Amino acid sequence: MAFNGYLNLFNLGVLTIIIIIIMAEAVTPTTLVDQTSLNRSSFPTGFIFGTASSSYQYEGAANEGGRGQSIWDNYTHKYPERILDRSNGDVAVDQYHRYKDDVAIMKYMNTDAYRFSISWSRILPKGKVSAGINREGIKYYNNLINELLDNGLLPFVTLFHWDLPQALQDEYEGFLSPNIINDFRDYAEVCFKEFGDRVKHWITLNEPHSYSMGTEPYMASHNQLLAHAAAVKIYRTNYQSEQVSEKGSIGITLNCHWFLPFSNDTLDHQAAQRALDFMFGWFMQPMTTGEYPLSMVSFVGNRLPKFTQEQSKMLTGSFDFIGINYYTSNYAANIPHSNNDTSKPTYFKDTHVNLTTERNGIPIGPQAASPWLFVYPRGILELLLYTKTKYNNPVIYITENGMDEFNVPTLSLEEALMDTYRIDYFYRHLYYISSAIKHGVKVQGYFAWSLLDNFEWIAGYTMRFGINFVDYKDNLKRHHKLSAHWFKNFLKKH
Ligand code: BGC
Repeated sequence: MAFNGYLNLFNLGVLTIIIIIIMAEAVTPTTLVDQTSLNRSSFPTGFIFGTASSSYQYEGAANEGGRGQSIWDNYTHKYPERILDRSNGDVAVDQYHRYKDDVAIMKYMNTDAYRFSISWSRILPKGKVSAGINREGIKYYNNLINELLDNGLLPFVTLFHWDLPQALQDEYEGFLSPNIINDFRDYAEVCFKEFGDRVKHWITLNEPHSYSMGTEPYMASHNQLLAHAAAVKIYRTNYQSEQVSEKGSIGITLNCHWFLPFSNDTLDHQAAQRALDFMFGWFMQPMTTGEYPLSMVSFVGNRLPKFTQEQSKMLTGSFDFIGINYYTSNYAANIPHSNNDTSKPTYFKDTHVNLTTERNGIPIGPQAASPWLFVYPRGILELLLYTKTKYNNPVIYITENGMDEFNVPTLSLEEALMDTYRIDYFYRHLYYISSAIKHGVKVQGYFAWSLLDNFEWIAGYTMRFGINFVDYKDNLKRHHKLSAHWFKNFLKKH
């Protein structure tokens, strides 16, 4: 008994030690997702990290400084019921007045660059050079650019992020008319002339795909492509080599999801390829070969506009880099052709692809606040590898990547700043980008969407994409979310 008792006691002691070890292992995070293992030094020297924004979503001051109306002012005021919280960008997050504070936030985060867009109607209130240039608008962007440079940040400038001057919409329906090509080129030229001595990175258009979805897509995209090419041509001819000590560069920002075949069926594999063609190839193919993708030509037929020989020539090679906005991925399944469908053709019907975010009841990844945003970080690697192989290994900047949470006004400030899921999102995407670079993809920079919470188009202020929190109840005060501190640490220079 005594012996047995001793044994039991001994066993108990061993057991306790084992339990302590197990518990210790359970609470100590494994090094697998050790958040210090990936940082600036995991990327090539000179790799640029920044945050991104756009004029209508940030600036506010809609009726100040001589700015003309844009289609987004008109839309939000005419149809407030189409915006989830009936809001608009009249004030937005007031960057127009607070740009100095915002640059200080970028500096705090140790970022190298800032991607912002110029409001066309702040420079040309009526959309055309012939109708007058607004010097006050020029002054605002000069101030912003100088503030960035004084703080060691590079400006990445988007010329068009959807806020078209209303005057051009009224006169000829904006991008539905070829008249837009020269007007865009002239507007771009004003910007090159005024800011090009300090701006080295130009992005002509943001997401022509998204923009065209709100209108007749094939014509709107066709004219966006031609407007882009015209702006690139004038930049290359008159400005590129003469301005700034280091040669400037110009590109375009495209958005694309990654598409996984819904099943192993060949038809679903083809559907995934077609989905890429209709979203990405629609722009990439003309800019590399001067033609639309074959799948589009055969599925859309004569509703797809054609390029003249001269236009094809102008489009081919019309970029120094490609900006990619990546947020999410989808499953793609084939939709067979049907002879019974007599309804009007649409872009989505043309694709013959059914896009979903789940398979057999299992989502492709965790859902963010936006109904379309399911987190699938590996998709960014797939998309980068695909771009490298399919389009001759272009220089790439990730010009947007991010996720949102709901704006919940009842949360305490402390709770609202606790965005650990966003850190995880950035970490995973950056991990796959570093992996793409190791596979030879020429990614040269990364911009997180977004510096601040802001006006999320038809979702208004109901969703928050910011790395920094904007207090809509307290004078738009900015507060760092956890992800801002994480970025600061990630980007620290040793
Ligand atoms: C756009 C941004 C937008 C973000 C999140 C991108 O498609 O360029 O303006 O806020 O996605 O929806």
